[in-house]
Amino acid sequence: MKVPYFDLQAQIRALRPELDAAIARTLDQCSFCLGPDVTAFERDFAQFCGAAHAVGFNSGTSALHVALRVLDIGPGDEIITTPFTFVATSWAISYVGAKPVYVDIDDATCQLDPAKVERAITPRTKAIMPVHLYGQTCDLAPLAALAKKHGLHLVEDAAQAHGARYRGQPVGTFGVATGFSFYPGKNLGACGEAGALVMADAALAERARALREHGSRTRYYHDEIGYNYRMEGIQGAVLGVKLKHLAMWTAARRRIAHRYTELLRDTPLKLQAELPQTDGVWHLYVVRHPRRDELRAHLEKQGVGTGLHYPVPLHLQKCYESLGHREGSFPAAEAAARECLSLPIYPELTDAQVAHVAEQISVFFKA
Ligand SMILES: *Cc1c(COP(=O)(O)O)cnc(C)c1O
Repeated sequence: MKVPYFDLQAQIRALRPELDAAIARTLDQCSFCLGPDVTAFERDFAQFCGAAHAVGFNSGTSALHVALRVLDIGPGDEIITTPFTFVATSWAISYVGAKPVYVDIDDATCQLDPAKVERAITPRTKAIMPVHLYGQTCDLAPLAALAKKHGLHLVEDAAQAHGARYRGQPVGTFGVATGFSFYPGKNLGACGEAGALVMADAALAERARALREHGSRTRYYHDEIGYNYRMEGIQGAVLGVKLKHLAMWTAARRRIAHRYTELLRDTPLKLQAELPQTDGVWHLYVVRHPRRDELRAHLEKQGVGTGLHYPVPLHLQKCYESLGHREGSFPAAEAAARECLSLPIYPELTDAQVAHVAEQISVFFKA
């Protein structure tokens, strides 16, 4: 049996009539850069997040970059963040000329460990930027408390966590600004690149809108140095269609995740720990084992695709060499990078496919 690691074709096929109509409407209107479909999606996505404002961007990376710009973070400033994430979390910090200050993850959840954050705070620290990794929420309450105590901004990277909840409250409503990604592989994906910034403050949202459009509020008048970070009209139309299905897709992801957990409970794998009172959205289903590479090769031979999120923590990336970290700087992140294996998880995955993946994992450990 074939179980591809990821397969978007079934979803696109099912939505094809709706997507065709939405894209045709954008073509008829010639509203290609921002426009009515983007505005409508911004309204709907803000509502979905329980937030006052959503600003559409051409990527999640752009949204996170502008989040730091609207907070006036720049050279000389330090941002506390996790070394175990997709690199774009740190790009936002580097783009504004600030310094990413890494703090190790909690070994059980792979999320930024709040217990280690306080000792990394210096007079230069301006913000804490955690990630809701794998679609699980990070431990927001202690992070928000630390931010408040030290007068820091909390900026959430929710690129993988559309609709996740922490103690009943949606991600995106804890931080002063939250970045989402609609890269095609994300839980809510565009037909191309897109992202959004979500926030409560109207003035920050207004400045984010100006920054994404060349720093202008009136055409050809540029109040500050901005970017061409506009969301495309077609992506707004596509996302408007897909948002209506997201709750159903998330329910399917949860069902698959719980099935994996049941089937894998008695194997030697370390399973993803969820924080109590959180509702993750299972962007990824990640297991851990020291023999990860052998297990991965075995699954590949049995037709099961897997992924690695992420094989190299950010403090060991060549591009961040100048930060002066080395092997051993963040042992929990390094162990996770060595042991993590992402199993296939997407709404269209069948029970038989999930059972096949679990069965092949059992076969590997029995051999
Ligand atoms: C995908 C992702 C991003 C970047 O989003 P893009 O839309 O690809 O620019 C940022 N942070 C995390 C954690 C991500 O997974």
